[in-house]
Amino acid sequence: MQDKLFINNEWVGAASGEMFNVVDPSNNQTVHQVAKGGPADVNAAVNAAREAFDNGPWRQLTGAERAIVLRKMGDEIAARTDELARMEVLDNGKPLPEAVWDIEDTAGVFHFYADLAERLDDDAEEEIVLGMEGFTSKAVKEPIGVAGAIIPWNFPMLMASWKVAPALAAGCTVVLKPSELTPLTALELGDIALKAGLPNGALNVVTGLGPDAGASLAEHPNVDKLAFTGSVVTGSNIMAVAARDVKAISLELGGKSALVVFADTPIEEAIEWIMFGIFWNQGEVCSATSRVLIEEPIYDAVMARLAEEASKIKIGHGLDDGVLLGPQINKAQQSKILNAIEKGKAEGALLVCGGGVPSGFEHGCYIEPTIFANAPLDGLIWNEEIFGPVVCVRSFTTEAEAIALANASEFGLAAAVMSADTERAERVAHAFRAGIVWINCSQPTFTEAPWGGYKKSGIGRELGVWGLNNYLETKQITSYDNSKPWGWYIKG
Ligand code: ADP
Repeated sequence: MQDKLFINNEWVGAASGEMFNVVDPSNNQTVHQVAKGGPADVNAAVNAAREAFDNGPWRQLTGAERAIVLRKMGDEIAARTDELARMEVLDNGKPLPEAVWDIEDTAGVFHFYADLAERLDDDAEEEIVLGMEGFTSKAVKEPIGVAGAIIPWNFPMLMASWKVAPALAAGCTVVLKPSELTPLTALELGDIALKAGLPNGALNVVTGLGPDAGASLAEHPNVDKLAFTGSVVTGSNIMAVAARDVKAISLELGGKSALVVFADTPIEEAIEWIMFGIFWNQGEVCSATSRVLIEEPIYDAVMARLAEEASKIKIGHGLDDGVLLGPQINKAQQSKILNAIEKGKAEGALLVCGGGVPSGFEHGCYIEPTIFANAPLDGLIWNEEIFGPVVCVRSFTTEAEAIALANASEFGLAAAVMSADTERAERVAHAFRAGIVWINCSQPTFTEAPWGGYKKSGIGRELGVWGLNNYLETKQITSYDNSKPWGWYIKG
């Protein structure tokens, strides 16, 4: 495992010489130490990325040439799936099958953006029809410059790929700042880039603390674009900092997404997706459907089965067989979730199951799958993002009521609807004020499709061609043939 910063294709220690601990959340033991990058290291990384962008070969290559390198990065990630997935389990605590899924997805993201880089060779220029004779014009797409990517700890390598792969595909150079809670796989990207032949300075990885390394990356005047995924508070701070230099910005922030289940949904399908929507990845998912609305006629039946199934989820170490719920990311997050559960009870929400640390798992940051019923609509547990395996369920009687309840949130990342009536499902999908809507499922995410939120859930879209466009500027080039004198000053 790497422990240094990756700057200009070299492994270097932090200027301060300091390191920080990487902790396994399943037992709170330190498993590794990595360099604690600070402002001086960020400055070195940004300067390397700037030099690489301004004078290096990366942006001068054709899209097809960049695609060769990106494909090799994807291939190398795929070849190391098991090893990288185990690293992710150690770092984040997630069950191995989830980690394997993440790494396979990460390889897929590099392959997808390799294809889009290739397509840019044909798509980079578009003729524009002008309404005046003698003029021709075209729109040209160009890389935006040096991209700063600040990412969270819930899907460490996958979140890195959502920013690094499209940025590199566009011809940008990148400084990546992974979360201090999960730096391990992001550092491996340095090794993967070297093997793939990425030129000096095209990708730089600086590990370090948010208010230190993260803030200095956000503030750096040589960064042209910031891409951030994380909490609303930090995202809003980064946006304010970016405003000073009018940097381009994309933000993917929190959510409190609703899943609306109509009474014509088969009960077993409802249970499966309600559980997948909130317990997958320990509920540490920004798009988790943490508010569930069930149509009155099936409410009691769903609740009975839901509590039974949730109590059966196998909790444990991510590497143990059959485990479907690992520990939360760290003690602080565990305490935050337990406090939110206490607040929920104090507010008068009914605790249906879970609500505490599972017995026998006191050595790690575990939380039981937790279900609340009848949470008050103005309370914390119904409105605030918990980022844990905690779901609030309520009943509804009309479609209009369900839509109003789903939309009554400051967030708008995702929403889901289940119904056998396809017309109704489509109608409700359109009525949701959210950037990602699922019908008859919750959470499946595809590299090809746009990802991002309405309202306080963020700005801009990642993935698909939208993700690539985040890293492209559009320039118009307009020519005049001077067939007729312009004649403003020089009269013919
Ligand atoms: P959480 O509180 O769940 O860790 P954050 O939004 O604080 O979520 O963290 C997401 C990412 O933002 C991490 O990489 C973290 O280091 C980084 N970060 C935290 N604070 C700042 C900051 N002030 N400026 C820039 N990045 C930050």
